[in-house]
Amino acid sequence: VGAAFYNKALDKQRCFDEEIENDLKNALEKKELTLHYQAQYNTQGQLFGFESLLRWNNEKYKKIPIINIISIIEKTTLIDDIGDFILEEAFSFSKKINTFRENKIVISVNISALQIMKSNFVKNIKKILKKINVDPKIVGIEITETVLLKNIEENLLKIKELKDIGITISLDDFGTGYSSFCYLVKLPLTNIKLDKNFIWGMKDSDEYKTLVKLCVDTAHALNLKIVAEGVETTEELDILKKMNVDFIQGYLFSKPIPESKVIELLK
Ligand code: C2E
Ligand code: CA
Ligand code: CA
Repeated sequence: VGAAFYNKALDKQRCFDEEIENDLKNALEKKELTLHYQAQYNTQGQLFGFESLLRWNNEKYKKIPIINIISIIEKTTLIDDIGDFILEEAFSFSKKINTFRENKIVISVNISALQIMKSNFVKNIKKILKKINVDPKIVGIEITETVLLKNIEENLLKIKELKDIGITISLDDFGTGYSSFCYLVKLPLTNIKLDKNFIWGMKDSDEYKTLVKLCVDTAHALNLKIVAEGVETTEELDILKKMNVDFIQGYLFSKPIPESKVIELLK
């Protein structure tokens, strides 16, 4: 009976995944996929960049967290087209908002390890930069340390090539998973993004505060900038300021917002 149950549950899950996959196939054409942007500020409150975050405007799936949708996309060949769409959208938007701006704003895109693993990853990014005709200095990518779980040397070279042409490289979710200080030395980085759970942990625990401070000091010793994610309260902000965190991202300042709202915010 157990096995039958298990199979039934698996079958149900499989059918659901297939249904989502089919709807995702049409999502690009139907223009249901969009990017939202979350502002990043320095501790003086000056705008420094935006992180782009995928959204799927579809009534049927609006309750499913986007990260789950993304893991379905990654399991299929859809990742190629949707991945390109995300890069093109974000790069075009960066070009658009930076025209006539003196203090340039960097827009970064989340890139999954699976995308980096593709043999044409770097060539494809360069192709899109050229197609959009955008300065690499105003775009960034956010990667996680999972890029180092497989094909380490190859992936390091790819990331280095992108850093060398001026793209900002951020290490996302630092403090989760298998975080290791040795990644900070190995990876060619611009920023480290401290995971939200670290920030939230500081409220009830001095140990978390100590760890966050340690991360900030380590990043600075290695000439890297540090971004605190998920900052929701002024208490968190005050602690982070005292620790000399460089950049702040979180609901306290701004939620992820659509393009039209970004344009308003920049006025
Ligand atoms: P992430 O890269 O760590 O992105 C930050 C997530 O934290 C976003 O969730 C954002 O809305 C949320 N967040 C930011 N500030 C706060 C805060 O103050 N409080 C709280 N509670 N949450 C905050 P979101 O948009 O649901 O994205 C979840 C994850 O999905 C992302 O985590 C990223 O791993 C993935 N993702 C989103 N867009 C893309 C994409 O275009 N490509 C890829 N490969 N992954 C993406
Ligand atoms: Ca991210
Ligand atoms: Ca993150």
